[in-house]
Amino acid sequence: MSGRLAVVGLGPGDARWLTPEAEAALAAAEALFGYAPYLDRVPPRAGQRRHPSDNRQEIDRAREALHLAAAGRNVALVSGGDPGVFAMGAAVCEAIEQGPDAWRALDIRFLPGVTAMLAVAARVGAPLGHDFCALSLSDNLKSWETIERRLDAAASAGFVLALYNPISRARPWQLGKAFEQLRRHLPAATPVVFGRAVGRADERVMIATLGEADRIAADMATLVIVGSAATRLVARPDRAPLVYTPRTGDAGS
Ligand code: SAH
Repeated sequence: MSGRLAVVGLGPGDARWLTPEAEAALAAAEALFGYAPYLDRVPPRAGQRRHPSDNRQEIDRAREALHLAAAGRNVALVSGGDPGVFAMGAAVCEAIEQGPDAWRALDIRFLPGVTAMLAVAARVGAPLGHDFCALSLSDNLKSWETIERRLDAAASAGFVLALYNPISRARPWQLGKAFEQLRRHLPAATPVVFGRAVGRADERVMIATLGEADRIAADMATLVIVGSAATRLVARPDRAPLVYTPRTGDAGS
């Protein structure tokens, strides 16, 4: 019998945002790999082995999962959100590219999930309603110069920006520096959305402006959406405003 590997997106946290396809793959797996807090979200099942790991060992985790699949087991490797967005999907591809030929012959599936920027956007309206791009602010795997260049290029071209990994204990200043950089291209009134732990019990969503964005606390569980010059608010009685980016127009480009 040949083994297989499913690289599964769990979505941002709410169980209702797990796709039926992902749920079926998790139920069928003999072994589960993943960052421990993500594995904790998967309901326990008799006869299933769990291999939790910490956040830093992505490539090793991918290799272990591939080894077990190559030994004939049905393996699932989980990611928060979508596995292809700043997550395990690319680590698996990298491990296969560098690994033994046998891994290329394996049955491997990537099962998509709701990525954080879509969940955060859905909480406030349609900030990603027109052209946008996604950027990780983590300079662990690329240089800060590259990040600044991409922020400049994206903001000056009129893209809305979804900022993943905005801040961590080891990277305390990057988000403030990014806002400073973006203020060179965008008005102070540009809407900024902070979505923290969306879909989980401790969810918090805040709408601010680029001018006052430094005053809002963000952490590792926060995704930040910075509007373009076209992004605007629609006021509503007794409800939070809608944030949206119109589908037409060339503002900011
Ligand atoms: N693969 C994941 C992203 C991993 S990078 C996905 O597709 O969503 C980790 C970053 O994702 C965090 O630093 C944060 O910016 C964002 N993130 C993940 N889950 C989130 C959630 N529930 N709410 C807000 N942001 C989240």
